[in-house]
Amino acid sequence: MPWVNNEMCTGCGTCIDECYVGAISMEDDIAFLDEDNCIRCGVCHDVCPEDAVRHDGERIPEEVESNLARIRRFLEHDYYAGDKKRQRQLIERMKRYFTKERQVAEKTIERIDILQDMGCVNPTDAKNNNAII
Ligand code: SF4
Ligand code: SF4
Repeated sequence: MPWVNNEMCTGCGTCIDECYVGAISMEDDIAFLDEDNCIRCGVCHDVCPEDAVRHDGERIPEEVESNLARIRRFLEHDYYAGDKKRQRQLIERMKRYFTKERQVAEKTIERIDILQDMGCVNPTDAKNNNAII
C-alpha cells in the first residue's frame, strides 16, 4: 500500500487528480490515501513531483516498533503487571499471533503465484508493474 510522507507532500493535488478511483483526499493540505478504496495501481507514486508517495517497505521498521509498543501496552495493563506467569503467556500468545500472520502472508503469496500460473495475469505485464504495493 503506497503512503504519503507528510513532510514531503506540498499539497499540490496532482495525485488526487490522477487517482482512478478517488481514493485520495486533501486533509490539512496533505494528501491522504484511503486504504480501503485504493486499488494499488501505483499511479500516485509515479505522478508525485515531490516523491512524497513512498514504498510500503519503507514502513517496516515503523510497523515493527508499533507492534512492540502495542505489546508493551498490554504488559503494562493491570491484568499483567506484576504477574510473571501471565506476562510469559502473553509473550507466547503474541509470538503465535505474528507467526500466524507470517503464514497468512506466505500462503497468500503462494496463491498469487498460482493466479499467474492459471493465466489470470500476463507475466510480462506483472514484471512491469510498479512494485510499491
Ligand atoms: S502529488 Fe505528491 S506532493 Fe502533490 S498532493 Fe500528492 S502526495 Fe502531495
Ligand atoms: S495506488 Fe492508485 S488507487 Fe491507490 S491511491 Fe494511488 S492512484 Fe489511487
